[in-house]
Amino acid sequence: MMFKKWCFVLIYSLIAFIPLSIVSCNNEPDKEIEIRGIYGHPQPLWNKGYNLSDLGINAIFVHSGSIDDKMMQQAREEGMKIYAEFATLNGKGYVEDNIEAWAVNEKGEHVEAASWFMGVCPTEPGFRQYRYEQLRNLLTEYDIDGVWMDYVHWHAQFEEPEPILPETCFCENCLSAFSADKDIKVPVGSTSQKAEWIMNNHDVDWRNWRCEIIAGWAADMRKIVDEVKPGILLGIYHCPWTDDEFDGARRRILGLDYDLLTEHVDVFSPMVYHARMGRNPEWVDENIRWFSSRMESDKDNTPKIWPIVQAYDNPYQISASEFETVLLGGLSANATGVMMFTTRAIAENEEKVAVVKKNYNNLSTQ
Ligand SMILES: [Zn+2]
Repeated sequence: MMFKKWCFVLIYSLIAFIPLSIVSCNNEPDKEIEIRGIYGHPQPLWNKGYNLSDLGINAIFVHSGSIDDKMMQQAREEGMKIYAEFATLNGKGYVEDNIEAWAVNEKGEHVEAASWFMGVCPTEPGFRQYRYEQLRNLLTEYDIDGVWMDYVHWHAQFEEPEPILPETCFCENCLSAFSADKDIKVPVGSTSQKAEWIMNNHDVDWRNWRCEIIAGWAADMRKIVDEVKPGILLGIYHCPWTDDEFDGARRRILGLDYDLLTEHVDVFSPMVYHARMGRNPEWVDENIRWFSSRMESDKDNTPKIWPIVQAYDNPYQISASEFETVLLGGLSANATGVMMFTTRAIAENEEKVAVVKKNYNNLSTQ
């Protein structure tokens, strides 16, 4: 008898509680959605005869190398904000001819590409100069609204269900910079012996230093942006893992310390590629909620959050309804903008275009 009574009480409580939870979960304050974006050159949509603003789109994010005057003009005529994706620490096409910038692993060997990604050594001075010059040229040449740093991490691959997480970089530049910055004398020996000694004796300093190097890139990019084009935004595309996932690998291996980065970055764009990363579509909403609370700050520098979600059919076909789930999930909690990877993936599928049109137009009139 007691059991039945308790069951009744329990079920009653659950029924009473569940709708409340759902209401509170979905009950975002009436926030304004600032950015209804697409990622990738708009040409595939233009080729199909679409006008971007008719689809409710108000911003495009385009690889810096694909920007030209014609695209700028048409996008402006359709009322778009224009942001340039800037491949920052991707060394493909550079390290092959500049071997000194090739990252070195804990065995003292040049790293292999991590699936399609080839990271560069972030302390190599020649590469730094090369990238900063590219950024200056981009900002001088085009009147863009912001720059989105991409591949801002040490050599690794996180866009896979089984990520590739090597220990790097133990090149001469990195070893001497670490030693000088942290005032730690690394004993004489082979590269592999030095790497082992550092990780056994100064692991915390090593991980902190690596995060500081990555944040240093963001700081330098901020400086250049503020100098050449003050007032435009600096954003970052980044690995969306929580602090604990993969044994803290976002900070430990990639070198992404949100608390350091937030000093320099206006907008964070977590790359919530659910299918590529082997997650379900609902994970996008969960992740953005986690990230929103992680980034909340009493200080004035709480960054904006504009996630990038997956529309691209890989490793399986993303249906229009699945795409809609991740698009809306990307706008949960404190997010005030969203975009999808990629424009082409949308343009090739009329149902996905319809999802964009419906949701973006709804959001624009809210
Ligand atoms: Zn290095």
